[in-house]
Amino acid sequence: MASSLHIAGIRKVFGKGDKAVEVLKRIDIDVAPGEFLILVGPSGCGKSTLLNIIAGLEEPSEGELLIAGKNVIGMAPAQRDIAMVFQSYALYPTMTVADNIGFALEMRKVPVEVRKKRIQEVAVLLQIEHLLDRRPSQLSGGQRQRVAMGRALARDPQLFLFDEPLSNLDAKLRVEMRAEIKRLHHVSGITTVYVTHDQIEAMTLGSRIAVMKDGILQQIDTPDEIYRRPANTYVAGFIGSPT
Ligand code: ADP
Ligand code: MG
Repeated sequence: MASSLHIAGIRKVFGKGDKAVEVLKRIDIDVAPGEFLILVGPSGCGKSTLLNIIAGLEEPSEGELLIAGKNVIGMAPAQRDIAMVFQSYALYPTMTVADNIGFALEMRKVPVEVRKKRIQEVAVLLQIEHLLDRRPSQLSGGQRQRVAMGRALARDPQLFLFDEPLSNLDAKLRVEMRAEIKRLHHVSGITTVYVTHDQIEAMTLGSRIAVMKDGILQQIDTPDEIYRRPANTYVAGFIGSPT
């Protein structure tokens, strides 16, 4: 069963006194179980801060955060059962691909036979079976990204969070990996929030798009609705349609 994500009135203030900066200004977003939501907006608008709050890497200054109906504020990142994929896919360099994928399961003391089976399943899904014995240094950029996704997927998380995972890749690979991420979501059905500042990625990847600017949610809707009925001139300009 996929998990829902409920974000209500989330604020984040960095700094104190006259140096205080409000980076998130009462964000409300509901993500349905199994949905693929895109969070888009210019650099510095607060996208990563919001993802970090969901993941538990930052605490919000105010607001409510429920995963599968359960309050997770104050809960440690490891207990939130979330997998996060960044642009810098930090694989363990001395471990094989198989061990990289299985590491989180090993930490959880999952029995070796169960672990092996899961690594195999994930490798088939990502078409990296032939790479399982290699080390990260023996892989291409795209293959490393696949392994990073495999590692995230192996844990069967409640939520997938992607923070601009493709921004380090060249154009051709980016197109390929977009399709891969779409397929991964399709087969896993895991609720996903995907951050990007790339309009094409935003318009093609998700079922709904949340457009953010200066810590304020401008609009949240399907790509089609956002294109046809942008809420304001900012959204219109960002998506590239006339007002
Ligand atoms: P985005 O991911 O959309 O580019 P971020 O969430 O990384 O934006 O940053 C939003 C704003 O918050 C930026 O102005 C950034 O400088 C600021 N910021 C992010 N993290 C911190 C921090 N730990 N302390 C102070 N300011 C921060
Ligand atoms: Mg960011």
